[in-house]
Amino acid sequence: VKPRQVKKIEEPPLSGIKNIVAISSGKGGVGKSTVSSNLAVALALKGYSVGLLDADIYGPSVPKMFATEDARPYVEKVDGKDRIIPVEKYGVKLLSIGYFVNPTDALVWRGAMATSAVRQLIADGLWGDLDYLLIDLPPGTGDIHLTIVQTIALTGAVVVSTPQDVALADARKGISMFQGKQINVPVLGLVENMAWFTPAELPENRYYIFGQGGCRKLAEETGTPLLGEIPIVQSIREGGDEGMPAALNTDSITGVAFSKLADAVV
Ligand code: ADP
Repeated sequence: VKPRQVKKIEEPPLSGIKNIVAISSGKGGVGKSTVSSNLAVALALKGYSVGLLDADIYGPSVPKMFATEDARPYVEKVDGKDRIIPVEKYGVKLLSIGYFVNPTDALVWRGAMATSAVRQLIADGLWGDLDYLLIDLPPGTGDIHLTIVQTIALTGAVVVSTPQDVALADARKGISMFQGKQINVPVLGLVENMAWFTPAELPENRYYIFGQGGCRKLAEETGTPLLGEIPIVQSIREGGDEGMPAALNTDSITGVAFSKLADAVV
């Protein structure tokens, strides 16, 4: 990919945002949106002001994961400019491409259109003062992904992977994309999702369904921290489908895992 000169987003609308953190994955289906949603909730539970921008044009998950499919954000004129008011749920300010367009329409978008839609949500969103704006990126290291990453002044990136070889290979590409000269965004670390499974009737056992220790190895190889390991838990999947992120159950094993992950990110 040739280096490009891309204008960074204008400063003023974002001046109240302290950190913009991209959540990325090489491969789809590894739990990037699940980690983004739960991390956002876990940070909010710790008292941080948090926004979550769902930039996964081709598969926006935030409306479902926060049970806000019917939300239609209002637009308000502020200082003569149209600003989009984020939807608020569980203490997190949310904007998703899914609130505005039918996802099947977005499938035919060209890169420029997808990128400008994402930029608009970031710059025109009335986010207010935020400690963290998390951006749930589309999976991969393709052109759209690259342009989004190049046009936003990111504080850092978190890469999500499962311990499976095919996912790790793509996660490695993601890490080198961020660390490459043209992007040069610090990789805050890796999150291993679906790290193991523990059946309820055998609480001492861990089954490493997608392999063991893959992300730790990749972390060591690339000199990136391993921020957390999230097991496969039925309540995580259910929480996603029901629009109640598992991180809300602070007493559960999963709540604790996401709380620890939030501590590792701040
Ligand atoms: P991605 O954003 O990478 O495409 P998702 O976050 O949508 O992936 O996750 C894919 C599916 O796997 C979803 O149905 C989600 O609920 C489920 N899932 C993700 N992580 C876990 C986990 N740790 N335990 C159980 N189910 C999970």
